[in-house]
Amino acid sequence: MGRYDRQLLEFTDEEQGRIRRARVGIVGCGGLGSYVVTSLAVAGIGGLTIIDPDVPDITNLNRQFIYCRHVLSGETPRPKAELMAEWIRSINPDVSVDYHVGRFDAETCGLFDGCDIMVDCLDSISSRQFLNEYSVRTGKPMVHGGISGFTAEMCTVVPGQTPCLRCILGDMPDSAKPPASIGSVVMFAGSLEATEVLKLVAGRPDDSRGTFFSYDLSNGRVTPVRFKRDPACPVCGHALKR
Ligand SMILES: [Zn+2]
Repeated sequence: MGRYDRQLLEFTDEEQGRIRRARVGIVGCGGLGSYVVTSLAVAGIGGLTIIDPDVPDITNLNRQFIYCRHVLSGETPRPKAELMAEWIRSINPDVSVDYHVGRFDAETCGLFDGCDIMVDCLDSISSRQFLNEYSVRTGKPMVHGGISGFTAEMCTVVPGQTPCLRCILGDMPDSAKPPASIGSVVMFAGSLEATEVLKLVAGRPDDSRGTFFSYDLSNGRVTPVRFKRDPACPVCGHALKR
């Protein structure tokens, strides 16, 4: 019997091999990041590169479950990225983990050059826009996720094939206050993101990529919105003219 027997009822050995060889970049070690890395690590992802500038505090614990033990014990605060790397190794020592304490920006994005796919686990729109630019520039697919109250959202960007996040979200400013965060909704959004990553690295086709999905869990409504690439998009628009 093997650790992955049950998922090998869905994935072929070849697909599981692709999962084992993939390295995924996780930008943000908050609530979304907690659920994404957990789902990918137990699925046998090959490597995770993670980045976050913060240390956890008590207000994180309704969703960022991997820090509960550290915050509640009163130990000297340590960076989320370091604690998350320890968590990943504890649940699957076969995963190769690189962690970085800092923001994902022009200085640090090169640390992700070895990644095949990027996952947006951020909570600020300006950081997301930079991640989107990095994804388009490097040609790496990016899975976006977000939450607000009972609403979870998810979209997969494949540069050159789908609209980018700027085509979809436009040039939105950051909101003044953080969104309402319910742990179970964050878990749902993180699960959607992780499932997209597994499908992408396994090589499964899916013509819904580029569609922006909004799930209102207060009433069960799912709203898929299919966007077109914007030829005037300042991030991916020039690629249309080539
Ligand atoms: Zn675009």
